[in-house]
Order: sequence, then C-alpha cells, then structure tokens
Amino acid sequence: MERKSNFSRYATVPLFLILSGVVIPVLADELATSDGKHYEGVIVNQSPSSVTVRLKEGTMTFKRSDLKYIKKWSRQENGALTEKWSASSASDGSSQGRDEELKFSDTVRYSDKPWQIYEEDAFIAFHHDEGIVRGRLKGKVGDYCKRVADKFGYEEFKIYDESASPDWDLKFKFYSYGDFASWKKAAQARGFNPDTLMAFAAGNRRVFFYELYMKTDVIYHEIAHEIYRELTKEANIPRWWSEGIAQYALLTTGEARRDISNSRFRAMNNQHIPLLSPNNDSYEHNYEDGLSVVYFLARDKGKDRFKEFNYNLRKGKGFENSLFEVYGFDNIGALDRAWVEYLKKMDVKDMVGE
Ligand SMILES: [Zn+2]
Repeated sequence: MERKSNFSRYATVPLFLILSGVVIPVLADELATSDGKHYEGVIVNQSPSSVTVRLKEGTMTFKRSDLKYIKKWSRQENGALTEKWSASSASDGSSQGRDEELKFSDTVRYSDKPWQIYEEDAFIAFHHDEGIVRGRLKGKVGDYCKRVADKFGYEEFKIYDESASPDWDLKFKFYSYGDFASWKKAAQARGFNPDTLMAFAAGNRRVFFYELYMKTDVIYHEIAHEIYRELTKEANIPRWWSEGIAQYALLTTGEARRDISNSRFRAMNNQHIPLLSPNNDSYEHNYEDGLSVVYFLARDKGKDRFKEFNYNLRKGKGFENSLFEVYGFDNIGALDRAWVEYLKKMDVKDMVGE
C-alpha cells in the first residue's frame, strides 16, 4: 500500500520469492544462562552485547551478561543436530514449514539485528519491537481475515488453527522493518520505491511492513490482497481492480464515500481517467477509481453477482470474460462507460450499510 503521492509505484505485484540456497555460516553451540537454563542450538548471530541462537522451536536472543557460558560444537555435530530436527519435523508439516520460514526470514533481514519473533495461531511476526507488534496485531488477525473473507463471499477461506487446521501455509507471516535503511533494501529488492511504500503483500500470506505504517488500515489492506489472490487463484486482474478490492475490504461505507466522491468529481467534470488508459498509475486512479468501480459492481449490482464474478475468476475464466458472463459488459471499455454513467447519477449520501 502506498501513501498518496504523485510518485507512487507498484505496491502489489505477485512475487515468486525464491528460497535462496545461501548457507548461513553456522557455529554450533550450547549455552547456559546464569539462571541455570541450558540450550542447544545453532548460533546465527553474535554482537558484543547479545547472542542469537536458533533452537528447534525458534530463534532466541540472549544478553551476553545473562550467560554463564557458551560452548561451541563442531560443524559435524552441528549438522547432526539440524538433521535430527528436520527428521523429527518431517512427520510434522507444520513445524517443517516453520523451519523454512525461519530460514527465509534470515534472507530478508537486511540488517545485522536479529529478528525477534512474536507468534500466535493465526500468524507469525518477525519484528524489532514487541510492544508495537502486540499493540497492532495481538489477537486481531483472525478477526481481520474473517471480515475480509466475508466481504468477498469467500466460503472456503481458512486460517491456521492448531486443533482444526494445522497447516503452516494457512498462517500469515508478517515482516516489520523498524529502521528505514533495512526497509529500503527490502523494498528495493522487489523493485519498489521505498519512499512512498508503506507495506506490500508478497504472496504465500507474507506481508512486509515499514513499522511506522503498520497500522490497522494498512494491515487490513494487505491482508485483503492476499485473501483475494487466494480466492481468485492468482487471477490476472487490472491494478485498479486489485487496489479497489483491497480498499473495499478495508473501508466502511462511510469511509469509502470520500474516495468515491473524488472519483465522481472527475467523472462529472469530464476528467475521468479511463479504465483502459495505459499509462495512468496514480494513487487517484488505482485506489479511488478502483474503489468506485468495485462499489459499482459489488453494491450497485448486488453482492450475489459480485460473489459470482469472483468465483468465475476462481474457476479460471478471464477478467473480461467474467465481466461479460456476470454483468453483461462486453469488455473493460463497456464497463468504463457504464461506471461513468453510474458515478454521474449516484449520490454518495445514498451509500449506506455494509
Ligand atoms: Zn494495495
């Protein structure tokens, strides 16, 4: 999601993040804290003041001043340990998925500072500020997802649940960058402009945030991108539709009025940006016009047809083909004309209800 700016750039391109084969130099270790606890694992990071160890269950960081001793193992012993972990997790897809995510997290750290981890059933968060992560995400993610899925009419949607659906792929993975230098690298690694980018959804339920903007509206918006992608099985859709959908999921009708008014103003004054215009990638077009198109199809034409349209995409029918089958528009050009007429006729004050 972008901040409103003339310099906005793509925030949501499906990405094929490749788990890189980079091998982290491992020092095998054993450590004990002064309160008598003992840990066996693999040191993944050391600083003058702290030591971070990957344990079977996750990564932990210790203050050096709290440690009684650190004992290094040989590389072979170390390898034997990690093999033992993966052997025992092979029977458990969830913990294997978790191990892979921990490996992946190291490849997108872009900083010397080790990640801290906060985890609940619905999600795992890699971050550098537990207070912020708890404040923004604790106990909320499952509800956000359910509301978004309901709004799309997505019946098959599931979220990770230890007892009912313990499939790691169902877990959201959040990455929150506290400092701009590492956020900049994370954004640039995917071809985004870090200056206007607040967050992006990267596929596989992974969402990256600049911590400063990890707020409810941005979290909703990015979760919505991920959920809509799953609903439509990564259907090829125009950028304005993708952003309009995410804004539709996020905003209440009352909140949507302002953006739709802006879109309407352009239509009334013959300044509207055609849906087929090839070069317009502005915030106004993608977010405001996109939202007003979604309102036109989801609300003015009714939720049943909106759901049918989304399920047509899910079945692999194309965007224009689905437009024709469900709404009778021959193509995006025909949608554009009907949408402008709708904007001219409608009154945002009549927009009420969910
Ligand atoms: Zn977006």
